[in-house]
Amino acid sequence: MKKIEYAINHLNDLNGIIICPYCKEDLFIRENSLVCVKNHTFNISKKGSVVLYKTSKLKKDKIYNTELFINRRNFINSGFYNEVHSKISEIINENKPNIILDMGSGEGTHDIKIIDNLKDKNIKVIGLDLSKEGIDLSNDFIEKNYVGIVGDLNQLPIKNKTVDLIINFLSPSNESEMARVLKKEGIIIKVTPKAEYLYELRKSLKIKSYENEDIIENNIKNKYDILKKYEIVNTYSLDKLLLNYLVKMTPLMNNINIIPDIKTITIALNLYVLRIKDGR
Ligand SMILES: [Zn+2]
Repeated sequence: MKKIEYAINHLNDLNGIIICPYCKEDLFIRENSLVCVKNHTFNISKKGSVVLYKTSKLKKDKIYNTELFINRRNFINSGFYNEVHSKISEIINENKPNIILDMGSGEGTHDIKIIDNLKDKNIKVIGLDLSKEGIDLSNDFIEKNYVGIVGDLNQLPIKNKTVDLIINFLSPSNESEMARVLKKEGIIIKVTPKAEYLYELRKSLKIKSYENEDIIENNIKNKYDILKKYEIVNTYSLDKLLLNYLVKMTPLMNNINIIPDIKTITIALNLYVLRIKDGR
């Protein structure tokens, strides 16, 4: 089967869940496109990608380009996030969702590592990202029960209360959109950086540290009930190849041409399982 055929099957299954970004009406498959009742039409590309985004002129991002995403994929595939992937798969296996939405899915590598450990292969995972380059790469995985869609994280092309579980992996998020699309009993798996995340790289480049963990956590506590929190901290050794992936995958390195001389890298993350507070 071709990628576009997989995409059509997946998008057909998502009937009643994905909506037109203009008029919020349901989208239906018509030949190789998604169409709403008002005839807004979104082509599905050969790569299996569809742009459900209001602006017709999707800007190319200078930082988040294909090269960055390929290096990120290589870095992730080298095992640095295995522990967090296993934990997320475990949480999903316990919660048995039907529909998962990854808000800020990029090139989809985290998702596919998570999907590979799922017991239920019928769970449908939607990756959503503003980057066309990222989504095109993520649809390399379209043979799995995965489809990447280009969309606005601040105006999700997703119907109210249709998603069972949201993944938000080291990506900014729009909380009101999360609350809108998530079912009442739905949960959010949110991964945020700890202070030591990529510490060696930031130290060698003299880049300021991430936002204070306590501030992030207080913001989370204001909006969500924290059902569980896991802290995952590992330091890995780096060879030249892995260092090269790391340097080229991070927006920290934008406009920096020197290769930092570091031998190890710390992957330090907080993983939260969240439920939206009552009354929202
Ligand atoms: Zn429409």
